Amino acid sequence: MENYRQVLQQYWGYDGFRGIQEDIIRSIGSGKDTLGLMPTGGGKSITFQVPALAKEGLCLVVTPLIALMKDQVRQLRSRGIKATAVYSGMTREEIVVALENCIFGNYKFLYISPERLATDIFRTKMRHMQVNLIAIDEAHCISQWGYDFRPSYLQIAEVRQLLPGVPVLALTATATPEVVEDIQQRLAFPQRNVFRMSFERKNLAYIVRYTENKPSELLHILNSLPGSAIAYTRNRKRTREVAEFLESNGISATYYHAGLANDIKDQRQKSWLDGQHRVMVATNAFGMGIDKPDVRLVVHIDCPDSPEAYFQEAGRAGRDGQKAYAVLLFAPRDKGLLQRRVEDTFPEKDYVRKVYEDLQYYYQMAMGDGRGCTFAFNIEEFCLNFKHFPVRVDSALKLLTRAGYLEYTDEQDNASRLMFTLRRDELYRIHENSEATEQLIRCLLRSYTGLFSDYAFIDEGFLSRQSGLSRQEVYESLVLLSHRRILHYIPGKKTPYIIYTRERQETERVVLTREVYEERKESYIRRIQAMTDYAGSQTHCRSQFLLRYFGEKDSRPCCQCDVCLQQHASGVRNSEFTGIADTLLQLLEEAPLTPAELGERMTLPLSVYEPVLRYLMNEEQIRLQEGKLAKASND
Ligand code: ADP
Repeated sequence: MENYRQVLQQYWGYDGFRGIQEDIIRSIGSGKDTLGLMPTGGGKSITFQVPALAKEGLCLVVTPLIALMKDQVRQLRSRGIKATAVYSGMTREEIVVALENCIFGNYKFLYISPERLATDIFRTKMRHMQVNLIAIDEAHCISQWGYDFRPSYLQIAEVRQLLPGVPVLALTATATPEVVEDIQQRLAFPQRNVFRMSFERKNLAYIVRYTENKPSELLHILNSLPGSAIAYTRNRKRTREVAEFLESNGISATYYHAGLANDIKDQRQKSWLDGQHRVMVATNAFGMGIDKPDVRLVVHIDCPDSPEAYFQEAGRAGRDGQKAYAVLLFAPRDKGLLQRRVEDTFPEKDYVRKVYEDLQYYYQMAMGDGRGCTFAFNIEEFCLNFKHFPVRVDSALKLLTRAGYLEYTDEQDNASRLMFTLRRDELYRIHENSEATEQLIRCLLRSYTGLFSDYAFIDEGFLSRQSGLSRQEVYESLVLLSHRRILHYIPGKKTPYIIYTRERQETERVVLTREVYEERKESYIRRIQAMTDYAGSQTHCRSQFLLRYFGEKDSRPCCQCDVCLQQHASGVRNSEFTGIADTLLQLLEEAPLTPAELGERMTLPLSVYEPVLRYLMNEEQIRLQEGKLAKASND
């Protein structure tokens, strides 16, 4: 352990490890596959960075969050450690340079986004790297049971096979017991090996407020508590409405959702971080990777669809360890709305097939055709033409993506990608192109290299400037060339698109397996149910409820959530009642006692336990018989 401490001291200047960091490092240091569960802010990065630095070779870090990746690379470099990253959005040249540095340049860390693991270029280069450790951040994304399954994570298991003997350190800030099992299984751990840090947040008070009028309750809360706040809602339009409502009531607020332009998002995020705006009203697109320690309040206007998501979002309050609040606003109709999300997320299988069929009419595609074709997808137009609702179409397309029929991407921040599907000599033999198309092809070949062997990231704006065509013309020409199988164009940025990964099938042949449909639907229902139970319960400590969900069975009541602070019918606080009642019942079960004898055995003053005693006597759980108090028998 001594050399690890030295590394920690040398690069970070910290005196020692915190919590379970040491256990994790010892385990991974001895070559064992390890799973570490730590809440956000628990110090996960050190657990792979330190052992990797203590050894020869390179640490491969898989993480889906590009912003976090860049941030960590920057931090490592500032400590004099060689680190680089490979993610979607880089040009091919950049990727080659980064990967070659990892082979020849004595680099210690390669951060990579999971979808890049499958690329030929990575697989080829990886063979020449001396990998000493594979670290997997957000490891719950590998589990179908998790709330954030990402198919690209399954690539990690394959990469593992290509790197025999290299240990894996999987890390996550959220995992239920079944996901914990699943992660280890999917990553082929030879033995179970889990280190868990408590997810208890001692300074965070969880509150549920039942209300019919959410905006006014939100306003009331913000007026009663000082400090920076986030208000989450599911609806993009509502982020603006709520922010305006708060502003009109004298509370400075801004809003954020995935549909805004990137520069606006950055600007708003910054103004909230700097404290120019007190409240950020946002969809769940906001918050990942944002480290603002002094958030005092996180309010959920709409109920999230899993305790995992709730815990993560609520947990953005109070990172500085000072008292903070996580409030869920719950209206009577929310329970019904949550149930509806099940139908919206998992529409009937026949409906999914219908969407698949309508899509073929929309793109006028013949049977057996389509494989490898990319189309821009306008969901409003599609819904209008075929009389569908966008929410369900979106879900149906996601299910078809899972089932492997197509690839549907909605508004991800991807750069556009392109590759020629013809060889160079074949391309030169095509003559029926329009002048504009010719111009565009020339421009592509001049501006990018390697287009015949792998996808390159392209920029339509740049191509438009270079070629003199308008952006729309560039886009349309690329789509046309894609149709003609001259190249394969994957539009990026905010254009949703559909790629056919298989040729068009007979509708009745479209199969949604149990794994794709029923099993995922069941676990979705379980999560929705858990959220309804959380919001609806008035008897379980909120913190205990969440901790139990994540598999922590022996936590204590938090004494600060709304349930704990409620008065029990006996007159003492709910949080105190159970403990006192248990002690009384236990003592009197051993032997009947006079009130004076009981007083001697109790460590609490009479004034504290008397209301509980009276309550239990009224309830006939304790009886007074011949001057002695006794526990009533159960029969
Ligand atoms: P996570 O990834 O779990 O959210 P980080 O790895 O970002 O957490 O760590 C959170 C903060 O705690 C960072 O500022 C980090 O430098 C600090 N930290 C981690 N380990 C230690 C330690 N042993 N001693 C002091 N500070 C630490």
